[in-house]
Amino acid sequence: MNRKRFLTSLAFLPFATTAMKLNDFSKLSQSMERTDLMPVLFVGHGSPMNAIETNEFTEGWRVTAASMPKPNAILCISAHWETNGTFVTSMPKPITVHDFGGFPQKLFDVQYPAPGSPELARETRELITDTKVALDEQWGLDHGAWSVIKQMYPDASVPVIQLSLDYRKSAESQYNLAKDLAPLRRKGVLIIGSGNMVHNLRKLDWSGKTAGFDWALDANETFKKLISGNEHQKLTDYQKLGTAAGMAIPSPEHYLPLLYVLALKNKGENTTFFNDKMVMGSISMTSVVVSGGV
Ligand code: ZN
Repeated sequence: MNRKRFLTSLAFLPFATTAMKLNDFSKLSQSMERTDLMPVLFVGHGSPMNAIETNEFTEGWRVTAASMPKPNAILCISAHWETNGTFVTSMPKPITVHDFGGFPQKLFDVQYPAPGSPELARETRELITDTKVALDEQWGLDHGAWSVIKQMYPDASVPVIQLSLDYRKSAESQYNLAKDLAPLRRKGVLIIGSGNMVHNLRKLDWSGKTAGFDWALDANETFKKLISGNEHQKLTDYQKLGTAAGMAIPSPEHYLPLLYVLALKNKGENTTFFNDKMVMGSISMTSVVVSGGV
């Protein structure tokens, strides 16, 4: 919420609520120092095994993290937390959620004990104006968040909160909601969308012969072109992008976190791609950094 919208919204509030809002706003200012504009990151997370492997993708995550200022906190929008309504995790110690099956025990043994941040959760709730956001004490960190963040910040020293995907909301309304998160970039908060822009588990190539099917490569190139060209409207209208895109997004949860990241891109900022590669035929690991803003 920018200052003008904030002040405008105050004009319609009764005094008591106004006082509370002002108090909350000052808390937002005080809890974290003002920083340079943090980059925003979309990460293709792929297999949960990336949490414990060292490979070209985990190396890409590590190098990207090392190239950024260390964040004061992380807000993650993960493909793996879909809810009825919008929630933000607010527990001081989020549990590590092992939300998958059929993987080795050593993956289930992984704990990622990053702290939460009840303050940041409350601040995030206040910033999102057109949607009611509820605090969540149950979820924790799912593998969309921890498999990536563990590789980026192995010492678990950066507090992490998650914002859920409301499955009732359109892509466009989620894109608009994400814009309210912009002030967090000035508080040293690294916003990470974690999904896969091409993600079709039914079409996986288990033979290992095909890195990327033609339709998957096509869709990946289409998305990249639209991202580079700032054609966000076309990306939120992804259902009109044709057959290849339709196969890339059989369900939207792995694609939507990308829209949250793009919504936070300011004029003049750059988008750069890394880990731009397909795996198992129908999953793209392509990741995006939005940066260069002042
Ligand atoms: Zn996933």
